[in-house]
Amino acid sequence: MTRQITIRPRDDLRALEGYHSPQLDVSVRLNTNESPYPPPPAFVDAWLAALRAAPLHRYPDRAASRLRAAVARRLEQPAERVFCANGSNEVLQTLLLTYGGPGRRALVFEPTYALHSHIARITSTTVLTADRDDRFDIDIDAARARIVSDRPEVVFLCSPNNPTGTIDPRATVEAILDVAPGLVVVDEAYGEFAHDSALDLVGDDVGLVVVRTYSKVWSLAALRLGCCVAAREVVAELDKVVLPYHLDVATQAAGIVALEYSAEMDVRVARLVEERERLFTALGEMDGITVFPSGANFLLFRVDGDGHAVWQALVDRDVVVRDFSDWDRVEGCLRVTMGTPEENDTFLAALGEALEELP
Ligand code: PMP
Repeated sequence: MTRQITIRPRDDLRALEGYHSPQLDVSVRLNTNESPYPPPPAFVDAWLAALRAAPLHRYPDRAASRLRAAVARRLEQPAERVFCANGSNEVLQTLLLTYGGPGRRALVFEPTYALHSHIARITSTTVLTADRDDRFDIDIDAARARIVSDRPEVVFLCSPNNPTGTIDPRATVEAILDVAPGLVVVDEAYGEFAHDSALDLVGDDVGLVVVRTYSKVWSLAALRLGCCVAAREVVAELDKVVLPYHLDVATQAAGIVALEYSAEMDVRVARLVEERERLFTALGEMDGITVFPSGANFLLFRVDGDGHAVWQALVDRDVVVRDFSDWDRVEGCLRVTMGTPEENDTFLAALGEALEELP
């Protein structure tokens, strides 16, 4: 019997493309902004011990109470203002399932993290786009005017911004909060590298959500853990929408144990920031490269000429960075994640060779 699938996805999903960041088998992987360092061995031992003691035949703590309490202590917030999920992407998805949806709008400032608009579209939230200026900053007056006229239910900021590295100054966040009729979501996936945060602006009567992740500083990208801090009322709504028992016991345990290694992680952040400054200078001295200031663990740079050809020439030398060369507003640009000093040296040498080789 011939079978045929007659059902098609929703019309508005047909044109959507999936997430494309190639997972290539090369030695130096500087394309997805993870930490180049695995978690400390003592941390892994403590996590495995916690896991060994966990009753695997029982569902995990649905409220993730101990994890929330630990995150809350670290971020100096009440536990009731903390929501955790499988990576900050699931936090963003839960936010849009709750506050977006048909008939609602989300405003993004491009170029920015593609998943903000991608998840908005999946949740049938209309995406409104505003432009950052040629230094990738948000023009405060233009942003306020846009929000006042279009009244989006959700406004996304990303600070430091992916892929540009730009920090949105506090004045920008405050000016936008001042006029936004709904939620302002500040994605601080790279916040620890910037020493600048909107966290202290969160309160129970403020429509501000600050999103953080364990995937970068905490060296836990493989486990998928992120969180946000928001008004108690917002967190209670997110808890209604997210799937029950979504955070498994291994992830919850890792999130608690990781925070006991804050001192080691602070040292790593400082080392990655030093590397960022070293590479910023080195790239700035290369002919044919324009590098942009960054507050994150990566640098965006523009190549005079064919950016994709440079990306390929790096891959040919066993180094992968992220290719943004055909993206609107960052044409010709590549983004390099800070690796170990040795990986960064390999990248710089390969880039030097690629630039010499190409016209
Ligand atoms: N926000 C931003 C700005 C990001 O760059 C990333 C990772 N690329 C995420 C959120 C998602 O991170 P995760 O789901 O691993 O927490």
